[in-house]
This record gives sequence, C-alpha cells and structure tokens, in this order.
Amino acid sequence: MKTEILKILLEATEAVSGEEISKQLDVSRAGVWKHIQALKEDGCIIEAQTNRGYKLHALPDLLKPEYVNLYLPEEELIIWYQETDSTNTQGKMLAKKKKEEFFVVLAEHQSGGKGRLGRAWVSNPGEAIQMSFVVKPLLPPSKAPALNFAIALGVCEAVQEMCSVDVKIKWPNDVVFGAKKLCGILTEMSADMDKVDYLVSGVGVNVNQQSFAGEIEQRAVSLRMIAGDAVDRVKMCAALIKHVKSMYNCYVEGGMEALMPLYMKRSAILNSEITVSCGEERYTGVCTGFGENGELIIKTQNGERSFLAGEVSVRGMKDYV
Ligand code: ATP
Repeated sequence: MKTEILKILLEATEAVSGEEISKQLDVSRAGVWKHIQALKEDGCIIEAQTNRGYKLHALPDLLKPEYVNLYLPEEELIIWYQETDSTNTQGKMLAKKKKEEFFVVLAEHQSGGKGRLGRAWVSNPGEAIQMSFVVKPLLPPSKAPALNFAIALGVCEAVQEMCSVDVKIKWPNDVVFGAKKLCGILTEMSADMDKVDYLVSGVGVNVNQQSFAGEIEQRAVSLRMIAGDAVDRVKMCAALIKHVKSMYNCYVEGGMEALMPLYMKRSAILNSEITVSCGEERYTGVCTGFGENGELIIKTQNGERSFLAGEVSVRGMKDYV
C-alpha cells in the first residue's frame, strides 16, 4: 500500500488530497493518514498543505521494499532488516518457509558478512548494498554453478545502467573495475542428489564509500569512486534486482549455454595469464575458457587444467586481476 501511495505522490505535480488517494486505492482516509505518518517516520519529506493535500518532496535513503519496489517493473518480494548477521543466513532460513521461486533479502547493516572460504566481507551501514537472492529453480545440482554467472552478469548490467560504466567479472563471480573489486558474491546451495532445493546468493556491492581502509584499501572500489558522484542506493538496488532476475530467467530457460557468450564478453581474465591457488599448490597458465558447469580452464605448460569454483583463488600475474 505504501508503494501505491508513493507512486501517486511521485506522479503528481500538485498536492494530492487524502480523499483522492483513499478513492484511488480503496482504503479509508484514516488508513492513508497512517501510512503517510509511517513514511514520514522513515524520513520521507511529505508536506501536508491545508485544504490541498499531500506533496512529496524527498524519499529516504532506505532499502525497504516500499521504496525499492517504486522502481521495479513488477513488485518483488523483498524482506528487509535494519541490521542482521548476514543476509545469506536469513535467506537460508526464509527459503524453508517461503514458497516464492525468487525473492530478495536486504539489510542496511550486516554484522557478520562473509566471503568465500570463510573470509570476511567489509561494509559500513548506509554506504553499501548487502542483499541475498533466494531462488528455487527446478534444476539438478550440477546446473547450479551457472547461477553464479547469472548473478554476476546481472550486477554488471545494473552498474552499466546506473553509472554507464563497463565492469568485468573475475572468475567465478567477483565484479571488478580495472584491478579493483566492486562486488563480491557468495552462493550457497541446499540440494538432494537430483534436485536443487534452494540457492542463496549473497551480493555485496560497494556503492558510496569514498575510500577503504586496512587490508582492502588498495583492492576495493565503490561506484562513487568510479562515477565521481554519490549513487542513489534505492535505484541501484532496484536495478540490481531487475537485471539479476532477468539473467536468472535466462539461466533457467537456457542454462549455461545461454549465459556463456555474455559471460565471455564480461570476463576480466579470458586470454590472460593468471595464477590459480589451490591450497598450497600454484598453477600458472592462460585462461582459455570456462566449462559447461562453470569450471575455469587454463592452459599450462603441462597441458590443460580445469578448476571448480569454491576451491581456488585466482590472481593476475602482477595484480589482483
Ligand atoms: P579474492 O577476492 O581474494 O580473489 P574471493 O573472490 O574468494 O577471493 P570473496 O570471498 O568473494 O573473495 O570475498 C572476501 C574477500 O574480499 C576478503 O578476503 C577481502 O580481501 C575482500 N573484501 C572484503 N570486503 C570487501 C569490500 N567491501 N570490497 C572489496 N573487497 C572486499
């Protein structure tokens, strides 16, 4: 209902009366008033003009569903937390309770963000986007790695739409700008032998940070650092959901085959010499492509080798990429 009220106020050039809103949406005037109060408490700037009605001046920088859904072609199920340990942890819990094939978990602040191999994901409240996509495709587990590709491609498209910047993917799914990391993705799966139960894909995007500290100082980059201006997190979040959903549909309908040409174009490492670390072992070679289950393929001096995501870290010869 809040989204519907906001849509009416956003489209109007003049103030809109409570009566007009209640008629259009078939709710009581008291109901409209209550929703308007709740929106104001969130930080919406809504002026109540005597005898004329409500005029919307500004929306808050909050990733609640009522704001994100304003910019989506169809309303999506979004579960929002002010603070949580990790959106993936919540996503896994919610996947067991909810029937929807596709939904999103969002948090303003994540206290225990995780990366692959148990590493930490760093984010400050209000500056980044932390979200998890929960999906339940009717597919065998062997097809699941393609989801990583779909999510990373969706992130690239969203960045392109919002900032007109061409970003790339470091296998399997880090989104990078030059040699710096803009977004990390961690996908977790629950499945039995022949069917995926659900997949939860956590996406951390650096949005409005102006710098980074410590271990990631030289390695991380934000959209603001790339584009030069602050980025509207709510619109960015909607763009991420729209493009990830579109890539997810592409993956469900066409599998890895449909995603591969798009992924090859976006790859930051294809045809480059890279080092792959697998425990204590190091392999150096040129990335020649990716397998049908998302494997990394490199050509080494001793022949071709392929690696599954989850086991290895990739580095460029001189830099992070
Ligand atoms: P790597 O990035 O080292 O190749 P990876 O792809 O497995 O490995 P993830 O598990 O996706 O990395 O993310 C965790 C790593 O990302 C951390 O070890 C840290 O170096 C880096 N990192 C953590 N927070 C951020 C951030 N906000 N922006 C960029 N990089 C970050």
